[in-house]
Amino acid sequence: MLEIKNLHVKLEEEDKVILKGVDLSIAPGTVHAIMGPNGSGKSTLSYVLSGKGGYVVTDGSATLEGVELLEMEPEARAAAGLFLAFQYPVEIPGVGNMTFLRTAVNAQRKARGEEELSAGAFLKVIREKAKALQIDAEMLKRPVNVGFSGGEKKRNEILQMAMLEPKMCILDETDSGLDVDAMKLVSEGVNALRGAGRSFLVITHYQRLLDHIKPDFVHIMADGRIIKTGGPELALEVEENGYADIVAEAV
Ligand code: ADP
Ligand code: MG
Ligand code: MG
Repeated sequence: MLEIKNLHVKLEEEDKVILKGVDLSIAPGTVHAIMGPNGSGKSTLSYVLSGKGGYVVTDGSATLEGVELLEMEPEARAAAGLFLAFQYPVEIPGVGNMTFLRTAVNAQRKARGEEELSAGAFLKVIREKAKALQIDAEMLKRPVNVGFSGGEKKRNEILQMAMLEPKMCILDETDSGLDVDAMKLVSEGVNALRGAGRSFLVITHYQRLLDHIKPDFVHIMADGRIIKTGGPELALEVEENGYADIVAEAV
């Protein structure tokens, strides 16, 4: 599904190298988690994959189903099936949440050569998916994320993901700022989307999210590289001992 090879990335504005050769291969239908100390480059990886500006790829590649992502516009990446749930969801004053979602869904359908959803069909789908995430009608009418609590923003990211039905979902610290109940809701939302044709890259600081969203593989990222890969037990090891031993072992 997603194949990242030898990815090197630096900042556009300064000569700071952030990703120093990331290799990652994600098969269809699998869930991969990335953990790692703050500042190791996890968010940068998700930004570069989704096409955010400000970064320069100096080497390497990232393909989605064999197609090079790194040369595509962000919209084309989304149309190809990539989705990023942000660590810090952006507020968009003046744009209603429902309007935003309908525009996004229909733009994506158009890019895929599918017909637009009728207003009625869209309403039916969004009501159902919002309900599962305990997002009420009033939240759907408000401007995107404006005045939403931390937890509401994160649930709204998952609603976007559920509506867009991407093939490759990247979740950047979706658990941060969530209380236990909200984390359960979000995890259920993610688990409901798991399936043979869809893969996940879950970035998290905490093992507890991975109790709910069970990963097939856990990777540890430090200083711009993936330094260790294992199964779910690796997350437990981190929870117990921190990153220091794993980082020391890799040097
Ligand atoms: P993580 O998500 O693992 O905490 P980030 O990808 O956010 O790490 O950051 C990796 C490193 O790159 C950090 O040292 C961070 O300060 C730096 N960095 C990332 N983006 C920028 C930017 N736009 N300007 C300056 N420094 C940045
Ligand atoms: Mg961080
Ligand atoms: Mg981050």
